Amino acid sequence: MELNNLLSALSLVAVYAYLHIGFFALLKNKKSNINRVFFIMCVAYAVWSFAYSFAYLAENPRDFYAWNKLAAFGWCSFSALTLYLVLLVTENRFAVSPAVILVIFLPGAVFLFMAVFLFGPEQNTPQLISSIFYIGDFLYNFVYAVLCIGLLAFWGHRSESLRVKRQARVLVLSGLIPFSLNLLTQNVLPLLGMNPLPLMGQIYAVIMVLGTYLVIDKYKLMRITGNIILDEVENKIIELVILLNEKGEFIQVSRHVLNLLGFAEAELLGKNIAILFQEDDRDKFTLEKLRQEKEHEDIRMQKSTGETIPVQIMSVPINDQVLNEFLGVLLIVRDIRKEYELRAINAQLHERTIRDSLTNLYNHQHSLELLTGEISQRWQVPEAEALSIMMLDIDHFKKINDTHGHLYGDYIIRTVSEIMSSNVGIQGYVGRFGGEEFIIILPGVDITEACRIGEKIRSDVFQYPYTELIPVTVSIGVTQLRNESAMQLLKKADDLLYVAKQSGRNRVECD
Ligand code: GH3
Ligand code: MG
Ligand code: MG
Repeated sequence: MELNNLLSALSLVAVYAYLHIGFFALLKNKKSNINRVFFIMCVAYAVWSFAYSFAYLAENPRDFYAWNKLAAFGWCSFSALTLYLVLLVTENRFAVSPAVILVIFLPGAVFLFMAVFLFGPEQNTPQLISSIFYIGDFLYNFVYAVLCIGLLAFWGHRSESLRVKRQARVLVLSGLIPFSLNLLTQNVLPLLGMNPLPLMGQIYAVIMVLGTYLVIDKYKLMRITGNIILDEVENKIIELVILLNEKGEFIQVSRHVLNLLGFAEAELLGKNIAILFQEDDRDKFTLEKLRQEKEHEDIRMQKSTGETIPVQIMSVPINDQVLNEFLGVLLIVRDIRKEYELRAINAQLHERTIRDSLTNLYNHQHSLELLTGEISQRWQVPEAEALSIMMLDIDHFKKINDTHGHLYGDYIIRTVSEIMSSNVGIQGYVGRFGGEEFIIILPGVDITEACRIGEKIRSDVFQYPYTELIPVTVSIGVTQLRNESAMQLLKKADDLLYVAKQSGRNRVECD
């Protein structure tokens, strides 16, 4: 009787342990399926333990049977709940199959039915039913326990993750201890001729529950963590979020990303992030780069249709604090199509403010800015490269206008502009300084080369086959920067242009 008192007290302590651990795990993360199933399993153990704490003290068979029937809700379901939990923890695909779940829980339900309705103090249960029940229940518990331990061991063995290996080890060990104790006290010792100890499975199982709790609490599963992070992030901000594992494969993709890219979730899960980029861009986005927390340069993401959209990606690596292991990366993606459109519009507007509408050359204002920019750059460098400029004016332009009209004058201005642009190319800038007066800025070009270009322009303008026979010529003043300011340099070029005009026009005057 004293042993029974002790067992009863221990059972009550176990009830407290189960409920405490169960609630603690549930409150820690109500969204995790694992934590929920773990909680239900704890409740099953608590019911079993609670009923047994009274069954141990039962003074007559009627009381014992009554308490045992309540306990049956626990001892008939714990094996099935444990196996289901193991399937969830090991991410077994059977965990989501309703048929498999039904099969897992069926034997327990049958034994529960038998325990409640077929056994009792006044019931004369036939020997056959009794044997089926005892052998069946033993096999059910035995097979499920072996399956659980086997699945966990295989899961740990197969995984490359340190965390999973550690989880599996703790779970296997904490499952093996109560399993072996039960087998020893209930089966091995009786076979060796010793009296079996009273049933104490509900007390041994505290070890298993503690082990499982340790795994859930300390070595959180990546999948659970991932789900929570993503749910939270998705709930709080409307952002495009992608979660990758340590190999750069999709674990979770927010629905905003799926909507944006036109993929179904199943098309991405398990695939490498590289499939979202065009081949040329793939080396810009390697796993090594993703492991750093940073904002990456703009990149184009590929939609399911093959069309690409510009995005900005921020990567947040997730590292295991306990094991110091890289677990994966959270990518926060920003759709920057609108920004790109605005940038293009801005660029167009900017172009309009710096160009002349008739010739598409740089306007007076921007030509001056370019010139002062080039000059101030040279002031900062002692041995700076050369800079030459030329001023160009169309000769007797008033006469062209007067003879053939303003529109023909415009045509001449445009034609001369084209001749200058094609001669200068990418060597420098051509600007329309005033009506029929132009400036050419030639960075890196000395006076000799600048004069050659000037001479070429003069001769091209002279020889061009215009639509009217009236001759078109230009006068040019060319100079090289020495130590002057922009205004002084312009004045020098202008003076040279004046000299060219005075000397008969259709001339290049070099400094
Ligand atoms: P010079 O050889 O001394 O330069 O003689 P010029 O006739 O060219 O004299 P000036 O530079 O004074 O004349 C410039 C003329 O160019 C005056 C103006 O009517 C004309 N002009 C200015 N802008 C435009 C334009 O956009 N289109 C046309 N068709 N004519 C313009
Ligand atoms: Mg003129
Ligand atoms: Mg003029």
